[in-house]
Amino acid sequence: MVSSSVPDLPWRLLLSCEHGGNRVPPEYATLFQEADEVLASHRGYDIGVAPFARRLAQELSAPLYLADVTRLLVELNRSPGHPALFSEFSRELDKLQRRELLAAYYQPHRERVISAIERIMATGGRVLHLSLHSFTPELHGEVRNADIGLLYDPQRPNELALCRAWQAQLRSGTWRIRRNYPYRGTADGFIPWLRRRYPAAVYCGVELEINQRWPLAGGDDWETLQRQLGVTLAAAVSSVFRQGVTQDCRKNP
Ligand SMILES: [Zn+2]
Repeated sequence: MVSSSVPDLPWRLLLSCEHGGNRVPPEYATLFQEADEVLASHRGYDIGVAPFARRLAQELSAPLYLADVTRLLVELNRSPGHPALFSEFSRELDKLQRRELLAAYYQPHRERVISAIERIMATGGRVLHLSLHSFTPELHGEVRNADIGLLYDPQRPNELALCRAWQAQLRSGTWRIRRNYPYRGTADGFIPWLRRRYPAAVYCGVELEINQRWPLAGGDDWETLQRQLGVTLAAAVSSVFRQGVTQDCRKNP
């Protein structure tokens, strides 16, 4: 068993949000003239996620690292060198401009998260990293038939166990929960990149994907879903890792 090698180290929750906003820094405004509509759409950012992330961080006393620059400027959930790192709006920048863009709006978010992970590990903890996202209800004519997606690497036992437990907890509601949908948890992204850096025994990375139909509709259903996500995550953590999610997370530096 992976966990038997480090049986007593507590897991500490860390939240991140790579697509929290659709901000265009003033120095890049000329790239986005007449782009208000696409900036406000699911292509510009993860609709509904930032307020939920702040709420979850407060409820679970977990640190949150939220980036609010539009993914159409630079895609924080793609690895360096990935063809989708820049969009049609930013692809025309020359090599030096791209380097400046990465230094100003890509590296800082990743470095903040990496520093937080390494601080936890340096103080005798293991990292439970939850990256928060949302997905458009329909893409290229395909209706996504899930309310919640839980993305993980099936080869990493803690991630598999946590997602199974969380799915089971959430099923007590009426939500449609799917694992590794609408994307595979091993497809390129920040968490898969971090998995190459940190072994499964000390790093457990999961991406939560919320169907945007709920934040777009708002109201009681969205309120219920947000509340249940927090409660069921805490229950799943406690059943899989045999620890409370909040008490250990409060010790985060
Ligand atoms: Zn996202």
